[in-house]
Parts: sequence; structure tokens; C-alpha cells
Amino acid sequence: MYDVIIIGSGPAGYVAAIRASQLGLKIACIEKSSTADGSTQLGGTCLNVGCIPSKALLDSSHRYADAINHFSDHGISVSKPKLDISKMMDRKNKIVTQLTTGISGLFKANKVTQVFGHAKIIDSNHVEVTSSDNSEVLETKNIVIASGSSPINIPVAEINHKDIVDSTGALEFESVPKKLGIIGAGVIGLELGSVWSRLGSEVTVLEALDQFLPMADKRIAKDVYKEFNKQGLNINLGCKVTSAISNNKAVSVTYEHDDNVSEVTFDKLIVAVGRKPNTDNLLDQNCGISVDEKGFIPVNDFCETNVENIWAIGDVVRGPMLAHKASEEGIMVVERIAGKHAEMAYNLVPSVIYTHPEVAWVGQTEEDLTQANIEFKTGSFPFAASGRALASGESTGSIKVIADKKTDTILGVHAFGPSAADIVQQGVVAMEFGASAEDLGLTIFSHPTVSEALHEAAMAVNGQAIHIGNRKK
Ligand code: FAD
Ligand code: AMP
Repeated sequence: MYDVIIIGSGPAGYVAAIRASQLGLKIACIEKSSTADGSTQLGGTCLNVGCIPSKALLDSSHRYADAINHFSDHGISVSKPKLDISKMMDRKNKIVTQLTTGISGLFKANKVTQVFGHAKIIDSNHVEVTSSDNSEVLETKNIVIASGSSPINIPVAEINHKDIVDSTGALEFESVPKKLGIIGAGVIGLELGSVWSRLGSEVTVLEALDQFLPMADKRIAKDVYKEFNKQGLNINLGCKVTSAISNNKAVSVTYEHDDNVSEVTFDKLIVAVGRKPNTDNLLDQNCGISVDEKGFIPVNDFCETNVENIWAIGDVVRGPMLAHKASEEGIMVVERIAGKHAEMAYNLVPSVIYTHPEVAWVGQTEEDLTQANIEFKTGSFPFAASGRALASGESTGSIKVIADKKTDTILGVHAFGPSAADIVQQGVVAMEFGASAEDLGLTIFSHPTVSEALHEAAMAVNGQAIHIGNRKK
């Protein structure tokens, strides 16, 4: 009898398993994925086909583009760099293997039992596990569902794994497509579009919505849109793809824009229209849990389902589909199972788009606050006024701090610029401790760092920034 069975070994499941084990609980983590040679494949989407491989390629492609476009700015001349895609992919694959085998090591060190096979919940105390050569029923006191998500397939652009691919296929191209189409200007579409654009593809992004990055700060989204188009991502808003047909040589894509129908041809097409929760054959019809209209498992703020002792975390439940949100939910849930009073600060889950420059934010936008009738004040600082950003030749973008008008408490931090993810993370820490803009302004930041832009933006909230003209309040 286990204390907890965890279904799925992505960042939700494996982190929950390790924390649970630290708390003295007897744990099994069930994972259905295996590699082509039949060996185990822990780590979920994030490590295998998500965060990690995409960041490996973003980093490699950034270096390549930097050598071509910016080395000469520093007085360094190099002959045109040669691209070895297969070496780039090998590097990415090695990193993935290193990390996924690392999880296996962590499981062993923490005495987490690894079970390989497809899990199905029979009831709150029984999970059936089926693999190619075995089927067994495991007994447990608690179940944590961490089954994650998969790319959404749309019937108008069916994945053929050759020239119409999802995000997984887009991490494995063997050569640089000359003309690359992307359906969807969400985070994944923009990151993968950046990779291939930097490596030489002519990229066209088709996005059904009229608004670009609707979840981000409006002003920042406008700057990002301008910059990405400048970089060669040709982003077309208000373009709904209605068909994509491959003749094995090229993909013909039809889309509607206003009342017009247009056609465009690509060598490869990436379908990046979002992800759906994994619940196929997961829940026995008598187990008491059913999914909502979008396929998510309904949970409360503590990730409890409607059945006692069954919990669900990560991409399979509501909220942003992000690895760090998944992991934190994992920790909260097993701590609660162990009798602690953990909770999640859902308002402090940061979002990042790992393009160059990065886009990152935490907390509320001006639009959110206006809608909620909360009075606020803002302070912004452009990276063009940061000494370090200028010294690095990375002065695109800006950062904005939003604070409550009366209490000065920081309510949001939004950035587009160099190391935006790491800078916004400092805002997350400040917000976690309930800091005011003044607190952040009184904090000492090392000089010269790009983080100083956050310091200045916080000071600008109360008209006290040093390196820009402050608006009269
Ligand atoms: P998953 O990682 O999807 O793991 C679920 C696991 O459960 C899988 O291994 C699956 O095989 C297993 N499973 C499912 N059903 C069963 C079953 N019935 N029995 C047994 N096992 C089962 N997020 C970020 O925060 N930062 C990023 O930079 C980032 N980049 C991304 C880039 C790409 C290209 C993609 C696709 C995603 C990216 N994400 C990123 C999102 C991130 O990968 C997910 O939010 C995260 O992996 C969710 O974790 P999870 O544990 O809930 O699910
Ligand atoms: P995300 O959910 O953030 O990964 O983003 C996916 C994006 O794909 C959303 O902005 C959708 O509007 C967009 N999208 C979905 N279907 C289509 C379609 N048929 N044509 C163009 N864009 C689409």
C-alpha cells in the first residue's frame, strides 16, 4: 500500500514525488512514456519535448544569429558561420538525456518507486497500470493526477509528422526549411518561430486573433510585435487558417483575413494552437471524477478534485500551462497530504517568452486593474537608458512596475528586454514579501546590471527615477 501514487513524471509529478518522499511518504510515480529503444522516459513534456529542448535550440540559434548579425558591432569579424544542424540537435538531445536520467537518479536517491505503464484510476484507492507485457492494480491512500497535456490538433491542419508538424516535430527538423509557416502566435509559436528564423527560415506566423499577446501588458505587447517583425517573424494577426494541404513537396495553407481568403505555400508548417489536457483512458467511469467541457480535471485552489484523496496538478488542471506552476502545485499537494497547510500564490506565477529579447511578466496588467476598479500608478524605464544594456548592445525594450495608488504595494511587473525573465523574477520575490515600489526603490542594486532597470522603474512609480526625466505626479 502506497501513501501516494502519482500519475505522470513531468515537472508536476516528479517534483511532487521527491517532495513527498522527503516528507516520509511511501511513493510510486507511474509514467507511460518510453523511448524508441524501450528505455524509461521520465520528465514529461518539459524535459523531453518542451522547456528544455526548446531552450537548447533557442540558445544555439541565438549564438548563430548573433555571430552573423552582431559580432561586427563589437569589432569582431568572422567569416560566415557554418551551420551543423545535426550537431545542434545532438547537443539538445544530450541535454535532454542528461536531465531525464538525472530524474531517474533523484527517484532512486529518494526511494520513489518508478512504475512504467499507462495508469487508470479505478477508485480513490486503486490504480491499474498496463504496460506492453503486464497489467497490475496498485493500492494507495492518495492519488495525484499529473498527466499533463499534449499539442492540440486542428482538423483544418492535420499533423502528418513530415511537413505539417506540432511543437515536438518542430524541435527535430533535419534541415532549415526555406519557407516556414506557423499557425498561432502564442508562446510556443513565437519561440519556435524565433529558432528557425534565426537559422535562416523565412517565417510567417498566422494568428486568428486581432490582438497580439492578449495576456501581456498592452504597451509591451506593441513593442514586442514591432521588434519581432523587425527580426523577421512576419506576424499576421486576424488570419484564421481554414485549411492546410500537403502534396509532399509543399504545404498549401488557406486563411481568412477580414472577408478575404488568401493562400500561401510553405516548405513546413508548425501547428502551435495550444495544448489539451491528457485524460485519455485515465479515469474509470466509476471513479467519480469527470472532466470539464475543455477536458480539464476540475479542482479547487488546493488542487483537490471532487473525490476525497484524489488530487490533480499541472497542465491537466486550470491555470497557465507552465512548468513552475505545475511543480509548485505538486509541492503544495503532497505537503497538504502530509498534514501541512501549504498554499499556492496563484497571483505570483510569472510568465516568460524566451525570445530575444525576452518577454516576462508577473501580477496584474493595467487593463486587469482598470477592469477590477483598482486605482494604480506606474513607473517605466527603457533599457536604452541602462548603462549595462547599452554596453552589451542589448538596449531594446523597457520595464514597467505597477503599484497600488494608495498603498504603493507592487501589483505587477512587466518587461521586454535583456534578461527580462530574471529581472521580473526579482519582482516576484519582492511581491511575495508584499513590497512597495518604495521598498524596491530603496533596495541596492549592483551597478552596472540590467536589473537596475527594475530599480529605476520602481523609483519612477513615485517620480524618483534617476536616469530618466520623471513625469510630474
Ligand atoms: P507533462 O510535462 O506533460 O507531464 C505529464 C506526464 O504524464 C507525461 O510524461 C505523460 O507521458 C504522463 N502521463 C500522461 N497520462 C498518463 C497515464 N495515464 N499514465 C501514466 N503516465 C501518464 N513551460 C515553462 O514553464 N517554461 C518553458 O520554457 C516552457 N517551454 C515549453 C516549450 C514547449 C515547446 C512546450 C510544448 C511546452 C513548454 N512549457 C514551458 C510548458 C511545460 O512543458 C508544461 O507546462 C509542463 O511540462 C507541465 O507539466 P506536467 O507535469 O503537468 O505535465
Ligand atoms: P497558445 O494557446 O498561447 O499556445 O496560442 C495558440 C494560438 O493559436 C492562439 O492565439 C489562437 O488564437 C491561435 N489559433 C488557434 N486556431 C487557429 C487557426 N485556425 N488559425 C490561426 N490561429 C489559430
